[in-house]
Formats: sequence, C-alpha cells, structure tokens
Amino acid sequence: MPTRGRRRHVDTSSHFCPNPDCAYRGWVGWGNLRANGHPNGGPWRQLLCIACRRYFLESLGTLFHGKCAAVDLIVRVIACLAEGLGIRGTARVFEVDPNTVLQWLVEAAEQLRAFSQHVLHDVRVRQVQLDELFALLSAVKDGAVSEAEAIERLERSPQWVWVAMDPESKLVLAIDVGARTLAMAQRVVHHVAQVLAPDCAPLFLTDGFKEYLTALLTHYGQWVQPPRRLATGSMPKPRWVPLPQLLYAQVVKTVRRRRLVRVQHRVVCGTLEAVQQVLAACGWQINTAFIERLNLSLRQHVAAVGRRVTTLCKGEAGLRQELTLYQVYYNFCLPHTSLRLLLPQPVPTHGTGSAKQWRPCTPAMAAGLTDHVWTLREMLQFRVPPWPQPAGV
Ligand SMILES: [Zn+2]
Repeated sequence: MPTRGRRRHVDTSSHFCPNPDCAYRGWVGWGNLRANGHPNGGPWRQLLCIACRRYFLESLGTLFHGKCAAVDLIVRVIACLAEGLGIRGTARVFEVDPNTVLQWLVEAAEQLRAFSQHVLHDVRVRQVQLDELFALLSAVKDGAVSEAEAIERLERSPQWVWVAMDPESKLVLAIDVGARTLAMAQRVVHHVAQVLAPDCAPLFLTDGFKEYLTALLTHYGQWVQPPRRLATGSMPKPRWVPLPQLLYAQVVKTVRRRRLVRVQHRVVCGTLEAVQQVLAACGWQINTAFIERLNLSLRQHVAAVGRRVTTLCKGEAGLRQELTLYQVYYNFCLPHTSLRLLLPQPVPTHGTGSAKQWRPCTPAMAAGLTDHVWTLREMLQFRVPPWPQPAGV
C-alpha cells in the first residue's frame, strides 16, 4: 500500500491486473491497483497497475467492455429477460434489435456462469432435491398447442428442464435442459457433485425416474472386495457398491386433475431412520418433503419454459442462457420470503410507512455464500478473477 500523498478512497480491492506478464496478474486484494479518472468522460474508470505500469478500464472482461450502448439499457434488458419477458418482447419494449438482445443475453449468461462458478463451490447442504420439469406442459394447459401436437413435438425433441436444489436454503445448485435420459441424469448429478464440498454427502430426494440411481452411484460409490468364501481358490471379483453415507429416497407423487392424490416413498440407499433424521432437522417428514420442493417460479421467469412454445421451438439458442441467467438471478438477487430474518430492532423508513421489520435474504445468503442481496448491475460489473482466490465475495 502506498503511504505517500493523499489517501486513496476508490476501492480497487475487487479488481485484478489483466497483464499476463505481470507478477500480480489475476490476483485480487494486493493493493497494486490505483484508480484514475474517467478517460474522455466515459462511464468507466481507468485503473493503473503500479507493478507493471499498465492501464486498463474497470469494465475489462465484463459485458460492458467496448459497448457503445448505455449501461442502463443493457442492465434493464438483462433484468427484463431475467424477469421472464421473452427475447422478442424485450426487444420490442426497448426498441432494440432482437439479435442484439440475444447477443447481450449470451454474453451476460457466460459472465454470470463464471460468476456463479466463482462463488458456488464447496457448498455444504443436508439435502438435494432433483427434479425434471416438462417444458411443454404449460403450453398445453394454456391451449396454445394441442396435446397431440405437444406429444409429437416431444417425440421429436423432448425438452426437460432439470433442476437440483437445496430445499433448506432454496439454493439452485444446477439447472440444465435436455432429454429425460441416463446421460442427462448423470450430467446433472456430476454438476451437483462438483458444486458440493468433496466430503459432503447429502440426502438425495428424487421422483421415481429410475436412472437417477445409476447416476448417483457413479459419483457416490466405491469398489469393495468381497471376502473369499473358501480358504483356497480365486478371489471374487470386486463389486461397486454405494458409499455407506449415501442416503437416497424416491418420492412418487400421484397427481390427478392437478390435485395431489397420493405420495409414496421408497428409501433406496441408507435406512428410513437416517432419512427421517435428516428431514426432521427441518421439521419435515418424508411424505411432505417433496411438497416443500421447487416452488421456484421457473415458469414465470424463463419465457421459453413458460408460456411461449414458439420461443422454445425457435431453437435452444437462448434457452440454456435464459436458464443460467435465471439460476444466478434467483440465487443471488431475489430475496425469498420464507428465508427472511426478523430484524432485532425495526428500522424506521423515510416516508410515513410502517417500520421495516424483516431483513431480506436470498438463497445464496441462506447458504452462507455471500452476505448481501446482489443487484443485477453489481453482478454484471463484477470482474470474475481467472482463478479461485483465497477470500470469497
Ligand atoms: Zn500488473
């Protein structure tokens, strides 16, 4: 830290030097950066690395770098997409070309995916619920397409949205789109296993889809050498068995006329007592556990999954990006009513309204990954370091 001259008060601690030849490259919080003014009156500050004497803009590596469009406009377009307005709708509202909106969406999703990876790792959870949502069903319900048409489309390109979430913190661990196959189940479980801490083995709850067991055993299994039955002779072949700490239960719901008729459960790995013990910590029973699930408003927030079949059929181009955007927006920006905390002391508001009593809490805050509600602008401006840093955000 420089000791000469006027005290520096622009915080550069979340930035890093991008110069590949610099000893400080990619590391944050070393005090090697000095903030300058805004060159040519532009919106972004110039930063100077005092180790290698290189200048760069604070927007380097983000969606805003090298864009002529106003920052406000880009943020609002992305916010509109995150709130579930489709690409075309957003383009009409802001009088922007749809291709521009798609381009911004693709760039934002790429950046937010990196942001999510930067923050979402070594997560510790007690439960994971895995679920697939059929992406065409709501369209059938709305009468936009006939059921026969939907089934025909399903045959051609079945679209399922796969979601893995922690029902306690409501954190969405993984979200993906694809067919209802073993390969997809494995991909989703692999993604979840990457996000969780290496020694974290939560209770897995799924519906009755049988391929989950294979997918879970791929990650949470081990080779065991069975003992030799006779004193002589060859050793029996080693067997792949579930890890002793793996808990897996299936909850099969029967829905008739949109009403829940019956809930059946099946403990696949582990014991019923162990499963009930994990659920009891949240005051749940195995029968009610899956009703506490996914009330996440995915259908409202992802246009392609929700109302518009045409959006979906136009191709997967935007869908995967919309899902990434939704996952990050939901985890970091949207406070969840059931997670809010009572403030020790009510905070008076500036107006005549009643005092504020609750502290808003997002899933990422509930999971202990961050300490505040992020705004979309904050996330889009965040320069994601190229490698993991010792301290989190
Ligand atoms: Zn440098």
